[in-house]
Amino acid sequence: MEGHQEFPAYPPPGRRIYCNRTLNLRAVRAIGFDMDYTLVHYRVEPWERRAYEHLKVKLSDLGVPTADLEFDPDLVTRGLIIDTELGNLVKANRFGYVTRACHGTAPLEFERQREIYGRTLVYLSEERYVFLNTLFSLSEACMYAQLVDRLDERGMPGALGYADLYRQVRKGIDEAHVEGELKADIAADPDRYVERDPEMALALLDQREAGKKLLLITNSDWAYTSRMMAHALDASLPKGVGWRDLFEIVILSARKPDFFTQQMPLFEVATEDGLLRPCPGGIRKPGIYVGGDAAQVEEYLGVSGEEVLYVGDHIFVDVHVSKAVMRWRTALILRELEAELAALEGFRPQQSDLARMMEEKIRLEFAFSQARLQLQRRQAGYGPQPSISSQKLRDTMAELRARLVALDERIAPIAKQSGEILNRRWGLLLRAGNDKSHLARQVERYADIYTSRVSNFLFETPFVYLRAPRGSLPHDDSQVLA
Ligand code: IMP
Ligand code: MG
Repeated sequence: MEGHQEFPAYPPPGRRIYCNRTLNLRAVRAIGFDMDYTLVHYRVEPWERRAYEHLKVKLSDLGVPTADLEFDPDLVTRGLIIDTELGNLVKANRFGYVTRACHGTAPLEFERQREIYGRTLVYLSEERYVFLNTLFSLSEACMYAQLVDRLDERGMPGALGYADLYRQVRKGIDEAHVEGELKADIAADPDRYVERDPEMALALLDQREAGKKLLLITNSDWAYTSRMMAHALDASLPKGVGWRDLFEIVILSARKPDFFTQQMPLFEVATEDGLLRPCPGGIRKPGIYVGGDAAQVEEYLGVSGEEVLYVGDHIFVDVHVSKAVMRWRTALILRELEAELAALEGFRPQQSDLARMMEEKIRLEFAFSQARLQLQRRQAGYGPQPSISSQKLRDTMAELRARLVALDERIAPIAKQSGEILNRRWGLLLRAGNDKSHLARQVERYADIYTSRVSNFLFETPFVYLRAPRGSLPHDDSQVLA
């Protein structure tokens, strides 16, 4: 391959694009982007702390004692589920079995967890459960867990129980996002809250020059969007090009998920200060719009669902609904993937020790069960009779048991460590024990591809054919045990 030394190296694992369903990017004619936590990545700790502070004030105005509470960024992670009926935070595996739980901020002992959830599977369609879909969920979930502690300790004025408490917290954070003050804080000091990615502008230019129509579809309003987009992109674009030049259509205050499911009135932003003009005839030309819906976008572009790729960070709103309703191709931005893969890489030596010891354990358990069965047959006098004596079988079992106990002692600390990778309380985002987490299940169901950030498209080019791996099944690993 002449000249290939000039090509960039293949990216590290944390910067690759992972594929659940094969996607030929050449067949994609339009790419829609979400803004918050997608094109504009916030520094999670200061942003969520700021949101949390606004929430504190709102709750305090309602008489909820929040003055001494502090945001704890490690208390919760995306993909956990709030059980509003019981005041718990839980992590579930892909089947909905709860694998870890906290009541308020206190971890539940395994036995207690089993008593509560042993017969209860988590179905997100049930009203009692709230899935943490996005990094925006961290502030509210942290506050909820801390207030559950408080409710248990000394009751709460106006809050009758755990579910009411959640409703109060939800209402508070909702208002903080919708009212202007939080956004004004962010807009006043974007350097503090936004993590710029200088590679993103080129990735977007590449896609646009390859002939794809770029769209921005955000729930944020015009004033905030223009401030954040300019901050995130303008400095990395060529001279004379502004962020607006990249996008054929910008849709603000999109009201996703309704944007994907309903017919919504459309307005054009007619002046710089955001004056709106109704557009009853739908989208007719490139521009900046408010409202509207996904069907209007398809009609204007003359494309069908599988020719549109939508890129967003919110698991329900951006990927679940756009796929389920419009059949758009979907890309999930999961920034935590970078830390997740780095943590896995760091744990690789222990992981292979663990795998080796587990294989050994399976072998010993197999032998132990065989000896036990032979003893049973001998004692009950049925079936083929073993050639060795009962005493010998008992000795063998005792020896195997001792080896198993010794092995378990070596396995336990590494297994514990493995459950604490990335987050001490909750472990990895995409795994629940050895299985896939509920989050991983949502991702594989609804996101055709997933990656940590938009600029990862830079490495893959606009011409990439992303192929889903063969997928694994339990019998793939079957091997002859010696
Ligand atoms: P997008 O991700 O670009 O669609 O924008 C998300 C917008 O929704 C941002 O303006 C957020 O502030 C806002 N947002 C996030 N969570 C909530 C909420 O719970 N209630 C209302 N608005 C929210
Ligand atoms: Mg978003």
